[in-house]
Amino acid sequence: MEEAYELSSRTNNLPEVCGRICPQDRLCEGNCVIEQAGHGTVTIGSVETYITETAFANGWVKPPTPNQDLAQSVGVIGAGPAGMAAAEQLRKAGYQVDVYDRHDRVGGLMVYGIPGFKLEKHIVGRRARLLHDGGVRFHLRFEVGRDATLENLRSRHDAILICAGVYRSREITAPGVGLPEIKQALDYLTASNRKGFGDPVPEFDSGLLNANGKRVVVIGGGDTAMDCVRTAVRQGAQSVKCLYRRDRGNMPGSMREVTHAEEEGVDFVWLTAPEAFLGDDRLEGVRAIRMRLGSPDSSGRQTPRPVLDSNHVIKADLVINALGFDPEDIPGMFGTSDLEVGQWGTIQIDSRTMMTSMDGVFAAGDIVRGASLVVWAIRDARDAAAGIDRYLRAKREPAAIEMALASQARRRSGYE
Ligand SMILES: Cc1cc2nc3c(=O)[nH]c(=O)nc-3n(C[C@H](O)[C@H](O)[C@H](O)COP(=O)(O)OP(=O)(O)OC[C@H]3O[C@@H](n4cnc5c(N)ncnc54)[C@H](O)[C@@H]3O)c2cc1C
Repeated sequence: MEEAYELSSRTNNLPEVCGRICPQDRLCEGNCVIEQAGHGTVTIGSVETYITETAFANGWVKPPTPNQDLAQSVGVIGAGPAGMAAAEQLRKAGYQVDVYDRHDRVGGLMVYGIPGFKLEKHIVGRRARLLHDGGVRFHLRFEVGRDATLENLRSRHDAILICAGVYRSREITAPGVGLPEIKQALDYLTASNRKGFGDPVPEFDSGLLNANGKRVVVIGGGDTAMDCVRTAVRQGAQSVKCLYRRDRGNMPGSMREVTHAEEEGVDFVWLTAPEAFLGDDRLEGVRAIRMRLGSPDSSGRQTPRPVLDSNHVIKADLVINALGFDPEDIPGMFGTSDLEVGQWGTIQIDSRTMMTSMDGVFAAGDIVRGASLVVWAIRDARDAAAGIDRYLRAKREPAAIEMALASQARRRSGYE
């Protein structure tokens, strides 16, 4: 088992998290050749969780310990899975690592987005403690843009890694959308997660962010929507409906999650979109319209089209907008126009070095890919940490690197 843990942790900094929350049905288990041969897949997620929990129980999981401490330091913006994975890799390589996060806890969406019934919070806290014990310094409630500019951080560190995630909710545009009972998914999930920690949450206690006894309508078809419907069920909602404008086969969310939600009593209303939110100063319902799938767009996905005269009213006391997330205006927030972003606001990097348009500033995770998965955040962060190591190594050992490159060139040309 110890060897199994060593193997599993060689390529993954949070295998116990991936074992629990990766959509294995569309990743490893979905590609398992045994599954394809009709035998039923190897339950890779459960195996990964079991191996890592055994390792924790036996004390085999240790804080990152470098062979030698280096003077160079790296500032990491964001303590989500990308920031945590990079911090561990960099610390192991000997760098001084400071992680800045605007939240009051380490873990990013693993702590305040993903519900506790999918990922227990102590699992994330346990890793954060190991990083801390290994010498990683966390600066919590520290918002880059408010407490420091990117330039300020650059002057403090030899390299910077941006792992800030994506947090701008996609808005619904429909009459009545400003009613107080229409909430953003992340506000709703954060309130529920904070409640789980025992934090004071006035908007939960007042009922605004609590589904108990309510007719809840969640709009969206991704993993965030699944987390909202399943949280609402656990809070004791009277009914929970999930409105999605495409059909089951075209849902972006994990099918396993949909099945779980159905088993728990969630009513999926496929091919349906909101048209207006009804009520004068209090939400009474959603006027919805039926959709059909038209011809494919440039991405190959069929475009939903409204079906004429198909409007109907769905009664509701709480609507949760779970349409997904885009990046915030990072250059504006960080006070620099030198940081190049793409059309959708994600940070542009050179995929070989993971460096952005600014020298010594790297980026990884959702802020580069757009809303994605924990496993990709970890993978990208490991690549970024390797890129930072190469960059800083070249700064401290320029002569050694030049000699190594020259020797490599000579070997290639047959001189050595
Ligand atoms: C509701 C929900 C459910 C999900 N469920 C799953 C799932 O089941 N499985 C899965 O694999 N993935 C899931 N995901 C996606 C997954 O959580 C993300 O892909 C992953 O967390 C991205 O990691 P990250 O480190 O890039 O960003 P994040 O986890 O978003 O972390 C970014 C961190 O940066 C901090 N930050 C941002 N701006 C600043 C700033 N200016 N200054 C300081 N700090 C800042 C934030 O506070 C945050 O802590 C889910 C996402 C959501 C929203």
